Amino acid sequence: MESGLYVVATPIGNLGDITARALDVLAAADLVAAEDTRHTARLLQHFSITTSLLAYHEHSDDRAQARILACLADGGTVALVSDAGTPLISDPGYRLVRDVQEAGYRVIPLPGPCAAIAALSASGLPTDRFLFEGFLPAKAGARLRRLQDLASESATLVFYEAPHRVVETLQAMLETFGAQREALLARELSKTFETLKRAPLAELAGFVAGDSNQQRGEIVLAVAGQRRRDDSLSPDTQKLLLRLAQELPAKRATTLVAELTGLRKKQLYDFLLEQRQST
Ligand code: SAM
Repeated sequence: MESGLYVVATPIGNLGDITARALDVLAAADLVAAEDTRHTARLLQHFSITTSLLAYHEHSDDRAQARILACLADGGTVALVSDAGTPLISDPGYRLVRDVQEAGYRVIPLPGPCAAIAALSASGLPTDRFLFEGFLPAKAGARLRRLQDLASESATLVFYEAPHRVVETLQAMLETFGAQREALLARELSKTFETLKRAPLAELAGFVAGDSNQQRGEIVLAVAGQRRRDDSLSPDTQKLLLRLAQELPAKRATTLVAELTGLRKKQLYDFLLEQRQST
C-alpha cells in the first residue's frame, strides 16, 4: 500500500456499511489513529483486525502527531478514523491533515458513510445546493443569532443536533424560518429505529415535541432554503432587510434599506410582504 495518511470513513450505525476498501486499509495500515481508541477497538475486533491504535483528537498533545509523522517518514501508512462516519466532518483531523500535507506526505480519502449526506440523500429536499452547518451553538442566544443569519439562505441547510436540544432547536427554527418552511428530521440513520420525517416546521416541531422517542439517539436536521421570489434583490440586501424588519416596523426597515442601497421603497416593501406571506 502506498505510504500516506488514509482518511477512512466508518459506519454511522450499521456495520454492514463499512467499505471493502476501508477494511483493506485498516488491516494493512501500520497504525490506526482514532478519536476514541476503545470505540475503534470494538470496530476493529468485529472485523478481526489487529492493527495498533493511537489516540488522536483535536486536543491531542504534539506527541500523537509526531508519532504519525514519524510513521509516514519511515514510508509507513496511517489510517485516520473518527467514532463514526467521515473524519473531519464535525470530527477531529483538520490540523493533522494540513500538517501531513505541509510535511510533504500524501493524504488519501476513503469515501463512505456520512450522516449529513445520508440524510440529504433521502430527504426529499433540494440537494443541488446545500450548506452544512454542523452543530449550532449550544446557548440559546447564539443559536438564535446563527439561525437569523441563515434565514435568507436559499440553499438547503443541514445541521447536526444533540437529542436533548432537538425540541428547543426546532422551536427556534420555527420562529426564525416560519411555520411553513419544510424541514427534515433524520434520526438513527442505518439503525433499528431509523426515522425520516419531512414536514413543514410547525408540524415537525409538534411531532418531535409530542413523542419522547423522537428526542433520542443521533439526529440530523435539514431545512429547505428560502425560496427566491425576487431575484432582483441581492442576498445581502435581502438579509439586511429581513434582519431590520425583525427589529423595526416594515415601513421603517424599508425606508432605511432604500436609503442605504438606493433601491425603490416599493420593491423592498413588496419583498417583505411576499416573505411574510410565505411563512
Ligand atoms: N463525522 C460524522 C459523519 O460523517 O456524519 C459526524 C460526527 S458528529 C460528532 C456526530 C453527529 O452526527 C451526531 O450528533 C448526529 O447529529 C450525527 N449522526 C451521526 N450518526 C448518525 C446517525 N446514525 N443518524 C443520524 N445522525 C447521526
